[in-house]
Amino acid sequence: MKTIAITNQKGGCGKTTTAVNLAAALALRGRRVLLVDLDPQGHATLGLGITPEHCQKTIYNVIVSDNMPVSRVLVRTNIPLLLVAPSNVLLSGAEAALMRMQNREHVLLERLEAVDRFFDDCIIDCSPSLSLLTLNALNAATEVVIPVQTHYYSLEGLKQVMETLSIVQDRFNPLLSVRGILLTLAEKNTMLCRDVERQMRSYFGDRVFRTVIHRNIRLAEAPGAGESIMTFDENNAGAKEYKQLAEEICHEKIGIAQTDFVHI
Ligand code: ADP
Ligand code: MG
Repeated sequence: MKTIAITNQKGGCGKTTTAVNLAAALALRGRRVLLVDLDPQGHATLGLGITPEHCQKTIYNVIVSDNMPVSRVLVRTNIPLLLVAPSNVLLSGAEAALMRMQNREHVLLERLEAVDRFFDDCIIDCSPSLSLLTLNALNAATEVVIPVQTHYYSLEGLKQVMETLSIVQDRFNPLLSVRGILLTLAEKNTMLCRDVERQMRSYFGDRVFRTVIHRNIRLAEAPGAGESIMTFDENNAGAKEYKQLAEEICHEKIGIAQTDFVHI
């Protein structure tokens, strides 16, 4: 199982949209996908038509309990190969529980090992904080995808994310690599977006995915219907862009060596 954390300390940059739609696109390519909602807001859960408050058992129970395997909390979606480990607001209590646990930074990694052979890909939707939960996601993952909103301030934020990843890699998870930086919420044909894209590509080179996710109202509407864009509006440009991202992820190995994180 390949585990990809979708992360960025900034909120509203398209993490959840990317987690849900990338997971769906991978599943439609025939891969067995587990989407872990690791945000107490439960947006990825909700976005796939599962009401967070109605979930009896969530990823919270998996994390805080020794005898609640991930397999017991999985929920099906309208895409047969895509299963979700849901979350709800209770997950905000996991921080305190983790603090009391030994090996507190690696609990999620251990829990996910039990389902390793049942899935090809695990996508983790992180919350926009640098919490112990997010550290657990980064330790469970071998790769990160960093969605970045295509505007001027993003480069500064991205430097911070890279520094954080560098620290995690040094101290906890030497196997972690950046699978790619994903430009999101781009406006077609604006000078601003063209400039930011050029700037990002000159700074980070081929670590920026070729696929760019443009601003698209259908991507924002799909969660309201409880579906990924793949089934909500399969011919929509957003669906095509996330399919293209899934293809890039399946076919290419970019990865960033450890030294590339530092001094940027
Ligand atoms: P995050 O998880 O980083 O906080 P979200 O994926 O929840 O970000 O996106 C923030 C908001 O922007 C949501 O309302 C979402 O529907 C919307 N959004 C995300 N990506 C797009 C896009 N490409 N086009 C239009 N709206 C988008
Ligand atoms: Mg989110």
